[in-house]
Amino acid sequence: MLRPQLKNLVAYIQEMYQCEAFLPLHEPRFNEREKELVMDCIDSTFVSSVGPYVDQFEKQIADYTGAKYAIATVNGTAALHVSLLLAGVERGSEVITQALSFIATCNAISYCGASPVFVDVDKQTLGLSAESLSDFLSQYAFVKDEQCFNKHTQNRISACVPMHTFGHPCEIDRIKAICEKWCIPLVEDAAESLGSVYQNQHTGTFGLLGAISFNGNKIITAGGGGAIITQDEQLAKKARHLTTTAKVPHKWAFNHDQIGYNYRMPNLNAALLCAQLEKLEVYIQNKRETAQKYQAWCQSNQVAFVSEPPNAASNFWLNAILLKDQAEQQNFLEYANNQGVMTRPAWTLLNTLPMFKDCLAMPQNNAQYLSEHLVNLPSSVR
Ligand SMILES: *Cc1c(COP(=O)(O)O)cnc(C)c1O
Repeated sequence: MLRPQLKNLVAYIQEMYQCEAFLPLHEPRFNEREKELVMDCIDSTFVSSVGPYVDQFEKQIADYTGAKYAIATVNGTAALHVSLLLAGVERGSEVITQALSFIATCNAISYCGASPVFVDVDKQTLGLSAESLSDFLSQYAFVKDEQCFNKHTQNRISACVPMHTFGHPCEIDRIKAICEKWCIPLVEDAAESLGSVYQNQHTGTFGLLGAISFNGNKIITAGGGGAIITQDEQLAKKARHLTTTAKVPHKWAFNHDQIGYNYRMPNLNAALLCAQLEKLEVYIQNKRETAQKYQAWCQSNQVAFVSEPPNAASNFWLNAILLKDQAEQQNFLEYANNQGVMTRPAWTLLNTLPMFKDCLAMPQNNAQYLSEHLVNLPSSVR
């Protein structure tokens, strides 16, 4: 059933966004500055991969996150794919991740010829659960010659990919310690969490590599875009090479020394992103204020709000509430969307999709709970 205050929530959202027409979940915001830099890029004719805006953007993303290196890519999935390859994920291996994530996480694992293994998520952070990871490894893994293997399948466990769900940092320090103990390379899916920090360190910089997305619905966007961040110079060089068709630099000759990918970000997108990046801190502050409004409303109306995890500062990419049961969740989705206020549940759990239903999965109690109770609320910059 739908509690009466949940109808009020829809009215409250419409008022907060001063919106009578359809209100999307997350829309990008551009002004004259984006037009200026994109026009400049067009005038320069350097619109394609590699160009001064790409260099500038990579430098600024590295400076902002505190990563030593950043490599701009065509999208977040490509960033994740190449990060996994560079972490050593090979065909036939297993990659630990969470079922509560966007499909891109598992697609990137699959592009490497590896299979996902699903551990549960944490109810508070919504990200990969350190307990479930620990349980899985104690039950299934052994280490030999500084590599981790699955006792039952004998396959190598080649990486662990936690995701910082809706911008909220997961317990990345604990996860990192567990991965180190078990000799598993850590790759962060930080697609949603640009600007989020855990113990004052940016998400995406804890692992060997981190992947960020600049898709149209993310906190800053180039329509499509992504970035790989890393502290490791060798990995950064390889990432640059592999995403640029593995072309050996030369003034005129086309030589390639391996099978590479056409994954580098076009200069046109980088120009747009340079303008977006100038406003990122303002956006984060604005989104934090929106989250505070939602939280205060939820507190006075006995609705559970997904708040910032401890020891972390979230970018509050997408706000979320937890409803009483699945019936109330469905009724609220129906009501809000009919009123023109876009709301949606979390993704269908990846371990239930036909492509991944036979993959190894730990009990998914928290992921299941969240998929039946959680609703994302409109969270655009106001
Ligand atoms: C957006 C997103 C990605 C990357 O998506 P692209 O659309 O390829 O940029 C990866 N993982 C998660 C969890 C995401 O939300």
